[in-house]
Amino acid sequence: MGNAQCGATPKVVVTEIYQSIQGESTWAGLPCVFVRLTGCPLRCVWCDTAYAFQGGTRRPIDEVVDEALAYDCPLVEITGGEPLAQKGCGPLAQALLDADCTVLCETSGALPIDRLPEGVIRIMDLKCPGSGEEARNDWSNIDRLGPADEVKFVIADRADYEWSRDAVRRYTLDSRCRAVLFSPVFGAAPPRDLVAWILEDGLPVRFQLQLHKFVWPPDQKGV
Ligand code: SF4
Repeated sequence: MGNAQCGATPKVVVTEIYQSIQGESTWAGLPCVFVRLTGCPLRCVWCDTAYAFQGGTRRPIDEVVDEALAYDCPLVEITGGEPLAQKGCGPLAQALLDADCTVLCETSGALPIDRLPEGVIRIMDLKCPGSGEEARNDWSNIDRLGPADEVKFVIADRADYEWSRDAVRRYTLDSRCRAVLFSPVFGAAPPRDLVAWILEDGLPVRFQLQLHKFVWPPDQKGV
């Protein structure tokens, strides 16, 4: 298991590893092990994982994989922070694939998603204007999407909704990936309004709520 690179065991900086239920995407509700890598070059105004911006522990990939596998759970998500900001993210994903895990990776969409090996399911954000990080979207990622990937929009208000709707139509996103996810910013955009807008426009997207935030307090670390 693990990929030797130039003879050295690659390392990643890890904030936490834990098991929970998957809260988002078409995988929502399933038991899942989360490997949260430290650091992110973005600063979305509604970010709920700012505790992962700094700190963390630099650990060999083999050790991280062993800890994830100890949960005996076939679904593992690499998240952050922005996991693709670490060079070791790809080798970590490959090591988990080699261990027969189904591997999801949550990414901001600001970095090239082909840094991940084939077989990883990418859950890629496109940052709406309300995030404050719209300019960071790497639009060339659209052409890198595969049929198992999912694209997520986190929507704060009507302006974000219209921006997202226009992006879905312009890039025919629903034809490029497994699902297009529309999610209200927790506590900001009224979920009912978002549902009504989607239905009004007949958009081929999947409305979602962040399940974990209904199970645990929104700012609780580790869920
Ligand atoms: S990309 Fe993710 S981790 Fe980074 S600031 Fe935005 S929401 Fe937070």
